[in-house]
Amino acid sequence: MTEQTASPKRTIKSTRPFTPNLVYFEPKALEFSKGKQIMDYVVAKGIEHRMTTSHNRITNLPGETEQEKYRIAKKTLVVGVRKTLDFDQSKPSADYAIPISTGCMGHCHYCYLQTTLGAKPYVRVYVNTEQILSKAKEYIEERAPEITTFEAACTSDPVGLEHITGSLAELIQFMANEEFGRLRFVTKFHHVEPLLHLKHNNHTRIRFSINSDYVIKQFEPATSRFEERIEAAAKVAQAGYPLGFIIAPIIWYDGWEKGYGELLERLAKTLPSDVTDGLTFEMIQHRFTKTAKNIIEKRYPKTKLEMDIEKRKQKWGKYGKFKYVYPNEQQTALREFITERIFEYFPKANIDYFT
Ligand code: SF4
Repeated sequence: MTEQTASPKRTIKSTRPFTPNLVYFEPKALEFSKGKQIMDYVVAKGIEHRMTTSHNRITNLPGETEQEKYRIAKKTLVVGVRKTLDFDQSKPSADYAIPISTGCMGHCHYCYLQTTLGAKPYVRVYVNTEQILSKAKEYIEERAPEITTFEAACTSDPVGLEHITGSLAELIQFMANEEFGRLRFVTKFHHVEPLLHLKHNNHTRIRFSINSDYVIKQFEPATSRFEERIEAAAKVAQAGYPLGFIIAPIIWYDGWEKGYGELLERLAKTLPSDVTDGLTFEMIQHRFTKTAKNIIEKRYPKTKLEMDIEKRKQKWGKYGKFKYVYPNEQQTALREFITERIFEYFPKANIDYFT
């Protein structure tokens, strides 16, 4: 028997932090310390880099097919300065979206960034964090003494980029000193180490996006595994951060009850019991627009994601387009079943919303 066959156990590799294949710098980015720090990282790693006057000029990324171009773009990082400092609203999860990055290296088939970023799916990070935080302070002061909440993951998954940017650490420490400011973000990545020893003053809620085994395996390539996410969730809770979970997108498929039932059961078994106080859950059903359906079918032609307009209900979306959600009966069944399972395993949890 050879050495290889003597050891049948397969070790599951940890999901590695994102490393871009190509990095573009906008010249102004190098006037900021974060820009220089990212350049040092790129040079130390021997990553190919180029200068560009603006990300809008990146039109010649290689790739023959739509799929290939998309895959290459997802491994391309653009380091720039955030020019628009008016924050978008971010209902229902927060008051405002705080912009520190746009785009994501994950390959979730259903991701709405495919539509919102359209032909520019590369990952962008912004180096002028101080200006972004000054703007956040203005928003907080305008609304004080009401609490103002900022969502840092509306257009990206910033945890997956933290080892390159350090931006979340800056936001967390800033918000720790803001009496009326709160931060929140959600992630499908487990790379939380750089956040564990920061002063956060309970002003940042970290949420992990979770889903049934079927949904994670079918539709969430290039993200951390369920077990990795839960291990990271336990670590951030043990570091004193308020913790939450987002079950999204909730998908109706043959066996969904079993799938979502097992999800909550596994979560309860895996999560240490000392971190379950004050847990929050958010639930978002799957939705899509006609534009999203066209793009997804081109980029992931073999996807099993069900996007049959005939089986859905139309809902008017805030961007002036119809989106397709589940009919009322299915929505109610999903909401009631998952809510019951949440309270069965986590009786003290809060459910923030189902949408
Ligand atoms: S991890 Fe989140 S932001 Fe990234 S592709 Fe998946 S759904 Fe989109």
